[in-house]
Amino acid sequence: MRFGTKAIHAGVEPDPTTGAIMTPIYQTSTYVQAAPGDHKGYEYSRTHNPTRTALQKALAALENGTHGLCFSSGMASIDAIVKLLKPGDEVVSTDDLYGGTYRLFTKIYEGFGVKFKFVNMSDPANVAAAITTNTRLIWVETPTNPLLKIIDIAVMAELAKKHNCWLGVDNTFASPYLQTPLDLGAHIVMHSVTKYLGGHSDVVMGALVVKDDALAERLAFIQNSSGATPGPQDCFLVLRGLKTLHLRMQRHGENGKVVAEFLSKHPKVDKLYWPGLPTHVNHAVAARQMRGFGGMMSFTLKGDRMEDALKVLAGTELFALAESLGGVESLLGHPASMTHASIPREERMRNGLADTLIRLSVGLEDSEDLVEDLKQALDRV
Ligand SMILES: *Cc1c(COP(=O)(O)O)cnc(C)c1O
Repeated sequence: MRFGTKAIHAGVEPDPTTGAIMTPIYQTSTYVQAAPGDHKGYEYSRTHNPTRTALQKALAALENGTHGLCFSSGMASIDAIVKLLKPGDEVVSTDDLYGGTYRLFTKIYEGFGVKFKFVNMSDPANVAAAITTNTRLIWVETPTNPLLKIIDIAVMAELAKKHNCWLGVDNTFASPYLQTPLDLGAHIVMHSVTKYLGGHSDVVMGALVVKDDALAERLAFIQNSSGATPGPQDCFLVLRGLKTLHLRMQRHGENGKVVAEFLSKHPKVDKLYWPGLPTHVNHAVAARQMRGFGGMMSFTLKGDRMEDALKVLAGTELFALAESLGGVESLLGHPASMTHASIPREERMRNGLADTLIRLSVGLEDSEDLVEDLKQALDRV
C-alpha cells in the first residue's frame, strides 16, 4: 500500500458488531470476562483499548514499523524511551534539542544517574567522539527547532550499529510523509502527535513506532506500567486527522515553498532557514533523506533589532502568535522571548538564535493570503 492509502485505511476495519466504517470511541475503562481470564483480548483500558489499538496500527504502518505505542503526550513517549535505561547509561543527543526534551533529560533523568551529552550532530565526528562503552542511546531530532538543521539519520544509524546502541529519532517536524527513520536504520521513531499527525491543534498526544518485537514488548511494558496512555476520544480525533495527512503535508510543503521564496527575496529579511533552499547548510542531506521540505521555517531581520521583530509579531493578521506547530492554521513564534527565553542571551546568540529570529509554521490557507499577511507585517518595520 502507498502512503495516502495507508493514511486512510491502515489499522481501521468496519466495526464487527454494526459495520460502522469509523472506529468507534470505545469510552470504557474495563471489559466483561466470561470467566476469569476468558476475554476478547481486552481487560483494562490502560493496557489496551480498541480505539487506541486502531490508531497504534495506523501509526506503525505509516512509519513502516510493526508496532505503534501511543502516549498521553509527546513528552510521555520520550519519557518511556529513557525508562529503557539504567543508572550509569549514557545518551548522546543533539545540542539543538526541543526544550521539553532537554528539560526531561537534564532536570529529571540526570538525577536518576543517566548521563547526557549534547553535541553538534551536523558533524558525525562529534557524535563518534562522545560515544563511550556506556552509551546506550543516540537521540536525534531532525529537522531541529528553530533553526531547521538537518541531521543525517543513516550516518547516525551506522554509528549506533557500530557501538551497539539504539538510535531514536524525534520525527515530529517531518512527519512520516516526509521522512521514515526506521527505513534509514533507526530503532525507535517518536512523535509529538500533537503537531502534524493530529494536525488540527485539538489534541495533545505522543507516539513511538518500532519494528523489533523485543523492543516493542519492553516499551509496551513501560507504557502499561507507567500508565501515561491517551483516552479513546483523543485517539479517535487523531485517526480522523491521519486520513488527510498526505494531503495536508503536500499543501504545507507547497505553501512553505511559496512563503520561503517570498521571504528569501524580501529586502528586510536577513537569514532564512528552510531546508528546501539550495543555500541551506544541510540542503544536500535534506534532499537525500526527506521526500519534501515541509512548512516549518524561520528567519531573521536585517539589523537584528528586537523591536522590529515585535512589530512583525504584532502585525500579522492570519499568522497567529502561539507555541506549537503542524496545524491547519498558520502560526508564528519568537524563540528569543517564548520557547528559548530561559537561555542566556550570549548563549542564544552563539547558537544562532538572534533577537529577531521568527519561526513560522506555515498552514493550509491560500498561499497568496499568507504572503500578503507577511508582506504587510514586514512593511511595519
Ligand atoms: C511539541 C514537541 C515535543 C513534545 O510533545 P508534546 O506533545 O508537547 O508533549 C517533542 N518534540 C518536538 C520536536 C516537539 O515539537
